Amino acid sequence: MVTVRFAPSPTGFLHLGSARTALFNWLHARHTGGRFLLRVEDTDRVRSDPRFLEEILSDLRWLGLDWDGEPLFQSRRFPLYRQKAGDLVAAGRAYREGEAVLFRIEKGRTIEYDDIVHGRIAVRTDDIKDQVLIKSDGSPSYNFACVVDDAEMGITDILRGDDHISNTPKQILFYEAFGLAPPRFGHMPLILGPDGAKLSKRHGGVSVEEYRKEGYLPGALVNHLILLGWYPGEEHEVMTLEEAARMFEISHMGDVQAKFDLQKLRWLNAAHIMKKTAADLLPLVKDQLAAAGVSLAGVADEFLLKLIDLYKIRMKTLREFPEMTDCFFRDDYAVEEGGKRKYLESPESVENLRLLAARLEGLAPFSAASVEDVFRKMAEDRNLKPAALIHPARMAVSGRTSGAGLFEMMELLGKEKVLTRLRGTAL
Ligand code: GLU
Repeated sequence: MVTVRFAPSPTGFLHLGSARTALFNWLHARHTGGRFLLRVEDTDRVRSDPRFLEEILSDLRWLGLDWDGEPLFQSRRFPLYRQKAGDLVAAGRAYREGEAVLFRIEKGRTIEYDDIVHGRIAVRTDDIKDQVLIKSDGSPSYNFACVVDDAEMGITDILRGDDHISNTPKQILFYEAFGLAPPRFGHMPLILGPDGAKLSKRHGGVSVEEYRKEGYLPGALVNHLILLGWYPGEEHEVMTLEEAARMFEISHMGDVQAKFDLQKLRWLNAAHIMKKTAADLLPLVKDQLAAAGVSLAGVADEFLLKLIDLYKIRMKTLREFPEMTDCFFRDDYAVEEGGKRKYLESPESVENLRLLAARLEGLAPFSAASVEDVFRKMAEDRNLKPAALIHPARMAVSGRTSGAGLFEMMELLGKEKVLTRLRGTAL
């Protein structure tokens, strides 16, 4: 059975690179009906912090990546690592140097393996110095604890970042010394920004947490991370985690240029938002409104659902929602200066809006369709192009030159607010 693991060090937040590592291991496990295990690499007692572990686990859950069984903690297994190192000393493969234990590297050999991502890799042992197994403070080295645990956990495949590529030959030598067959290894290229530089804050953020706060859907972030290791073809670019788990084969992993592109993420996010129902988006939108300081006291869910349906196709991120819809939540909404000058300052516009308000006053019901009829009728009667009425009206009721359909907006705002705004008292 395929058994893979994700092995975070709880010394910081979950980076996009680590999230991608977790994701591909998860996809491999779920596609094959195997197991996806967690191992906490908390051997560095100073830098490890349970708070980081909590963040990492909650980010994994948010992304939709579940794991099997309970996580294993390396900090609880120091006696085991020391015992295993002792075994290698007894077998003549390692030696003590004070409190430390070192593995003896046999020179003149070539270590070869088939990397799942890069293909055949060969490394000469002449270039490798003796390896620390146990440090003088009694803690294990990363490479040694990793091999002891991967062997005990029955790991069959290891997908991890390219930053570990130089560790793999050393780990293979440890398996050999224990008389065990090594698992398969695959190293994924470092994630870069669109400019080819190492991913950094200026490309839009490096941790999962940042994208969560920015109003990205987990499905969209996962979707972009998938494309940084596997290209499923143009017709499958937009996919859910479940679809990906169904289609993904580990042999599909490519040595792709892993470029994280914020524009691509925004486009994917819009595509994933479109697929959600207003009810799916409601709790997320409420979070964004609350974060933007909008009070939802007395605001019915039914109203919010209609508003979400109206704006869903216009958002790239959920964070844009509060700003796009501020005219629905306050009367001192932002007003575009250019639009105001263009559409609201001529005497004709003011007069037209006053007349429009008069025609709308007795309207019942006040619905998008009935409002539209009033617009059409008035444009006809006064020989105006509909646009000559629509643009100023949109500016007056929302403060913006673009947005959702004007008639739907008016219905949602309600007659009273619309009349007040058309008559200019709010501007
Ligand atoms: N703790 C290591 C890391 O976060 C794990 C490397 C591995 O997967 O072997 O990079």
